[in-house]
Amino acid sequence: MPKSTARKGRLVIVTGIPGVGKTTVLTAALAACNARSVKVDLVNYGNMMFEEASKKGLVKTRDEMRRLGVKTQVQLQLAAAKAIARIAAKGNVLLDTHMFINTPIGFMPGIPSWVGESLKPDSIALLEADPAEVSKRRQKDAAIRAREADSPERISEHQLLGRSGAAALAVQTGCTVVIAHNREGAAEAAAKVIADLFM
Ligand code: ATP
Ligand code: MG
Repeated sequence: MPKSTARKGRLVIVTGIPGVGKTTVLTAALAACNARSVKVDLVNYGNMMFEEASKKGLVKTRDEMRRLGVKTQVQLQLAAAKAIARIAAKGNVLLDTHMFINTPIGFMPGIPSWVGESLKPDSIALLEADPAEVSKRRQKDAAIRAREADSPERISEHQLLGRSGAAALAVQTGCTVVIAHNREGAAEAAAKVIADLFM
């Protein structure tokens, strides 16, 4: 299905494994856009799902989200996609999300086909980093974020899966794929690659 022609701005999805630096890089990308007077809304998919769940009275706190059944989670995922598409209809959006979420029964897709169809992104930007660096970043945040501590091998597998997911999304929706490297101490460089997608 071709992407939406009614859209005023661009929708760029940014994915990357937990701790790779999405929130850090996207905050810098937003500042780079602002500096060039390009208006962009930063949207976090997880926050949008939480909003949908709260509206329906399903949860009061974010932690309760994990206890919802898979069917409910999928309904929330779709409701969030529709809400994000409405924001994107009005202007530029940078969407912070995950391509695959590690669950006890395997990796769950963050952008299954029905979400891709609903979002119709212009680009998917994959944020990647050296697996050993990602390990260190997760450990550094251990006190404030409950992130899994994975081996460099598992981190590499998860990143590889992310590339496959991006390729599948591109073929499905016609969006472009961009790989941005978040090198140690160089989040600004990755931010520029992403900000340039709105210029
Ligand atoms: P999550 O998916 O769990 O939300 P994330 O991808 O948003 O994770 P961040 O919270 O942005 O990751 O970053 C994780 C940690 O890595 C933070 O401590 C951040 O300061 C650090 N970090 C991010 N980018 C870099 C970089 N280029 N060099 C060094 N440290 C970095
Ligand atoms: Mg984050």
